[in-house]
Amino acid sequence: MKDEAQPRPHPRADEQFDAVIVGAGFAGLYALHKLRNLGFKVRAFEKGGDVGGVWYWNHYPGARCDCESYYYSYSFSKELQQDWCWSQRYAEQPEILRYLRHVADRFDLRRDIAFDTIVESMVFDEVTSLWIVKTSGGDVVTSRFIVSAAGCISAMQKPDYPGLTAFEGEIYYTAAWPHHEVDFSGKRVGIIGTGASGVQAIPIIAAQAAHLAVFQRTANFVLPARNGPMDAEFDAWVKAHYDEIRAKCLASPGAVPFEGSHTSALEVSAEERQAVYARTWALGGLRFFAETFNDLITDEAANETAAEFVRAHIREVVNDPKIAETLCPDSHPIATKRPPLGDDYYATFNRANVTLVDIAKSPITAFSGRTIHTADAGYELDALVLATGFDAMTGALLRIDVRGRGGLELKSKWAQGARSYLGLSIAGFPNLFTITGPFSPSVVANMPTGVEHHVDWIADCMTHMRDRGLDFIEAEAEAEDQWVEHSAQVANATLYPKANSWYVGANIPGKPRRFSVYLGGFGSYAKHCERIAHDDYEGFLLRVSPASTRQEVPSVARAALSD
Ligand code: FAD
Ligand code: NAP
Repeated sequence: MKDEAQPRPHPRADEQFDAVIVGAGFAGLYALHKLRNLGFKVRAFEKGGDVGGVWYWNHYPGARCDCESYYYSYSFSKELQQDWCWSQRYAEQPEILRYLRHVADRFDLRRDIAFDTIVESMVFDEVTSLWIVKTSGGDVVTSRFIVSAAGCISAMQKPDYPGLTAFEGEIYYTAAWPHHEVDFSGKRVGIIGTGASGVQAIPIIAAQAAHLAVFQRTANFVLPARNGPMDAEFDAWVKAHYDEIRAKCLASPGAVPFEGSHTSALEVSAEERQAVYARTWALGGLRFFAETFNDLITDEAANETAAEFVRAHIREVVNDPKIAETLCPDSHPIATKRPPLGDDYYATFNRANVTLVDIAKSPITAFSGRTIHTADAGYELDALVLATGFDAMTGALLRIDVRGRGGLELKSKWAQGARSYLGLSIAGFPNLFTITGPFSPSVVANMPTGVEHHVDWIADCMTHMRDRGLDFIEAEAEAEDQWVEHSAQVANATLYPKANSWYVGANIPGKPRRFSVYLGGFGSYAKHCERIAHDDYEGFLLRVSPASTRQEVPSVARAALSD
């Protein structure tokens, strides 16, 4: 835990860094460790009161990862990997937070992190080629590089119900859950949102509360997690095979060591198809997609076979046929919204103390006193839980006033949707790196693997520049355009853009619709990034800034000494 007696490591007013890191979750912690070990002078700023990122904020009941913990963890330290024992297949939030706190302590990271501090603005100064960073703590520092580790799913979205403030009961947000215990015993609770967060929280709250009303706008395809304790034998096997497991993650499309499939769902008999689905359903987790058929995400008819398998399961588990139908998703192809994992989700709707409210049919109209009003009923509640999601992919960066070359504002650059080269760099914003930024595989791959890959690439690039006396790097606009175009082509060959998902920004009123995740597969993306670096950072302009006081002349041919 953070030592409260320690002074906050805020820099001196005039302090200059090699890199300022925004955020101290999986990405920020590893970036700090890696860059500091390479001799860079680094400072991280974190809005939260401690390390952990997502796992600090999303403290809601039932929160856990949906990639197995032995993949959803760092690989950079073999000793850490061997020492840490996960207690379950999918660790719960407190355990993941404990792990990240352990990482911070083990590698002595806290001394370079200013907590409870929001980075408010980052402005590129063309005279010095330095970023000027201002924080809510009053810090004004300069830095050669910015490494944004501000997160893809970290900017909480509050629903825009005009009368919400009129609600007099308790209000909780899954994405900003209080760190003290919340006891719903004996209370009438309502929850809005049936994405992954809602799906995890609903069975736990239902078991505790006197009554739970679930306000569902869109039914989701919920897959079984098949969570369970790690046994010692399996833990030993994983630890003996970690090198193999991690190598497989790095080479695979989703950064998880699943087997993949070369078969179309439409080229096998109905019986065979059912058998394949049943086998992976029994295994649990995202194997239902990764290890069944290769066209579930590209062919609507193939996709529908998987969707129908899940609907049949819902009808089998849920006793009341009307409730079962309301829970059956029909608005989007399966997997085009992130399918939540949950072992008890559907069975929860058989409980006498749970009511499903279909707010797609009968929308929420008002809040008054302790009542939520829908178009045709009123629900008396003591507490309301909002599991209403995030301004994903771009929200965290856009909440900072970021200005690049020529005063270009990031919010105007991204006004029609995000643009980025490789998800790592943005034309017009020199020396700003984004970890798992838009148009990288980010949220469609196991994220710690993606985070480590990006941090390593950025650290190699910064070292390359230092070795050659270069201090300015910027993505070329043409390379960015081509990458965005290529990413769009890959996405448009899939069913993903068909759903009104947070992947396309459809959950945020007014957000331009753009699918900003790279779907070409993590393994091939990682190889591509490697090639770009090897080819002298193709698509990037690297040079000595005119203002640089460095004396060394870069040895690389492409480095230009002047504009
Ligand atoms: P984050 O963990 O989001 O950390 C970003 C940090 O930056 C935050 O602490 C935030 O406070 C800070 N920050 C942002 N803006 C500022 C600012 N202006 N100033 C200062 N600090 C700032 N992914 C998977 O692959 N598998 C999973 O099982 C999985 N489970 C998830 C469960 C939940 C509940 C959620 C919400 C996400 C999950 N994800 C999962 C996705 C998750 O985003 C990543 O796995 C991972 O946590 C990302 O780490 P990060 O460090 O990049 O970002
Ligand atoms: P989400 O997937 O965006 O779900 C938000 C839910 O709230 C949806 O059901 C949405 O309905 C509903 N909603 C939003 N605004 C609403 C409004 N104004 N009125 C009524 N309903 C509203 O968000 P999330 O559940 O927090 O998950 C986000 C992502 O975080 C996940 O997809 C996943 O990547 C990650 N995550 C992972 C885990 C895990 O298992 N490890 C857990 C939590 C989160 P619509 O669908 O109609 O928009």
